[in-house]
Amino acid sequence: MELMPHIELVILSIFLIAFLVELAGGRLKKSPRPLRDFVFMLFGMFSNLLLAGAVIGSVIGWLLAKQFPDSAGSLAGTAFWLAFPVIFFIEEFAHYWLHRAAHEWRWLWKIHRTHHSAEHLNISVVYRYNFFWVFMLPQTWMGAFAVYFGLGEAFLAAVFVTYMVNLGTHSSYRWDLWLRNKAPVLEPVWKVIERVVTLPDTHHAHHAYGKSAHPNGNYAVTVFLFDMLFGTAKIPNGRQTRYGLPISPRLHWAEELLWPVVRKPLLPKPEQAAKTDA
Ligand SMILES: [Zn+2]
Repeated sequence: MELMPHIELVILSIFLIAFLVELAGGRLKKSPRPLRDFVFMLFGMFSNLLLAGAVIGSVIGWLLAKQFPDSAGSLAGTAFWLAFPVIFFIEEFAHYWLHRAAHEWRWLWKIHRTHHSAEHLNISVVYRYNFFWVFMLPQTWMGAFAVYFGLGEAFLAAVFVTYMVNLGTHSSYRWDLWLRNKAPVLEPVWKVIERVVTLPDTHHAHHAYGKSAHPNGNYAVTVFLFDMLFGTAKIPNGRQTRYGLPISPRLHWAEELLWPVVRKPLLPKPEQAAKTDA
């Protein structure tokens, strides 16, 4: 239990550095609505890092303590190198299917949609979520179980790996293309890596529309192998030009953050709004 606040601090510090690098590089203002992006990011950070973890952790912890009072810490003797991959792959697998369902089921899509409405892909999108999405993330639920049964360390290692890949794939810097251009001789290696691990190439495609876009595919956070296995892998090897959703400018902020509790009609199309103003 005591480990949790520390890893959150480490993760938050790494996030802040990445955020400041993108801010200093002028990347964040490439978004048409940087202020909205920033507020959405703060909202997501608050609900994800503070609320969801605390609520799910307390409720599950309380239930487990009630049901299995003698089992607290009972798996603490498990070898790290067994516990870590088991937790990591179960979490990735669960997340793959949740994410895929979110793109296939309409009601779930409206909860996930906020993550996709960002009109520019950058580090802030890592925390851009509808309030209810963060309560569905398998990672948080698994964390509560793992910590209770004494596998907190392996869980945190899994969180850390996933988080670092997540930062790397949401970064506005296309470091993958840069590296590939620098050393074309390594291309065969990249061809293998991109089929195993999610890279900016496949994740940028997931957030884009238009050129080199594949919004309905590439669902894995880290283990791209799942996309390969389950037929949802789309590898464009290219740069995208447009991010977000065609309806992004027409979504009401309150619905974005709080659907289904808050429901708002789509705002008028920009040309209709201009006519009304005139
Ligand atoms: Zn998605």
